[in-house]
Amino acid sequence: MTKLIYLDNAATTKMAPEVVEAMMPYLTEEYGNPSAIYSIGAKNKEVISKQREIIADMIGAKANEIYFTAGGSEADNWALKATFEAYGKKGKHIITTKIEHHAILHTAEYLEKQGAEVTYLDVDENGLVSLEELEAAIRPDTILISVMFANNEIGTIEPIKEIGAIAKKHGVLFHTDAVQAFGQVPIDVDECNIDMLSASGHKLNGPKGIGFLYIRKGVKILSLIHGGAQERRRRAGTENVPGIVGFGAAVKKAKATMNEKSKYESELRDYLIERVLAEIPYARLNGHPTKRLPNNANFAFEFIEGESMLILLDMAGICASSGSACTSGSLDPSHVLLAIGLPHEKSNCSLRLTLSEDTTKEEIDFVVDKLKEIIERLRGMSPLYEDFVKKQKKKEEE
Ligand SMILES: *Cc1c(COP(=O)(O)O)cnc(C)c1O
Repeated sequence: MTKLIYLDNAATTKMAPEVVEAMMPYLTEEYGNPSAIYSIGAKNKEVISKQREIIADMIGAKANEIYFTAGGSEADNWALKATFEAYGKKGKHIITTKIEHHAILHTAEYLEKQGAEVTYLDVDENGLVSLEELEAAIRPDTILISVMFANNEIGTIEPIKEIGAIAKKHGVLFHTDAVQAFGQVPIDVDECNIDMLSASGHKLNGPKGIGFLYIRKGVKILSLIHGGAQERRRRAGTENVPGIVGFGAAVKKAKATMNEKSKYESELRDYLIERVLAEIPYARLNGHPTKRLPNNANFAFEFIEGESMLILLDMAGICASSGSACTSGSLDPSHVLLAIGLPHEKSNCSLRLTLSEDTTKEEIDFVVDKLKEIIERLRGMSPLYEDFVKKQKKKEEE
């Protein structure tokens, strides 16, 4: 059995041992409902408050501005749908980008059917939103700007502080999907004028099925999930106590290790990028060369079909992804790669490798060596590549 090399940390991460350990009592003996009067329940209410403080502190928010959800997708849905519901009288215009996660894009499309008007901003070849285009898109009836903090496919980090300043200047609410950025890069909601922010536990070594929406005090959105009075009447449902405890433990760990971890990962990422670009012909890096998540590398290889590459990598024990997890399995080119201007045939052959603090240089070397082999083999079978090489030779002879 070959050892597994997991380089798909943008899709999900392994839970940290301290996260599992922190959760264990709440999966077994500490099962009380936090709304109960008796002590095994009431104690859990305090435990939740503690986690809320730890998490709020990570983004410079107050504990009562953090609302737990069942993950990043729910937080994204909530931010968009509830803003449209609460502020629809003021206006029906929402601004977002073409490279958002589907949790935003599909929600925006749904809202269009409910009467919303949505502007989907273009991005440049590195995946950056233009501040001029953003400001020009604002209308008197614009109620929300939603721009992701960092992209999940190509890793580009958006100019969130500048976007927040523009939103504030025009009196428009600003939401950011920070699911990829949270725990990887420093975030301060006040400094960036963020009114709402989505995050998720399983992207930073926490459990799946837990996330939160930060809602700045004064933002008047209501609950999407009706029922009990949990989360200060803004999100009904018995609290996911083990999930919240695990999320808190993951955030605590991220806070303590973020600087060191991102330094380690970005050095290893740069080493990976350098080797791939130097040793594999007709390869390019997707996403911004420097303004990118510390753990993200995304490449396009010409004359390669992404699915075949992933299968061969899998046979070598390497977990990677092509495009995003949500679109792999379908042959549709990634909307993100199309938005940065990659033509269809090139966006079908993208490879995303996302590192963790457990990734080693030996693993990266093994992956690059395997990748070289696989790409050579696949190109060897490609009539397009054969044609291309012939043409190149002819050109050289002329
Ligand atoms: C993973 C991800 C989501 C969805 O989060 P879940 O917790 O899996 O629902 C949303 N946005 C981005 C940018 C993501 O990477």
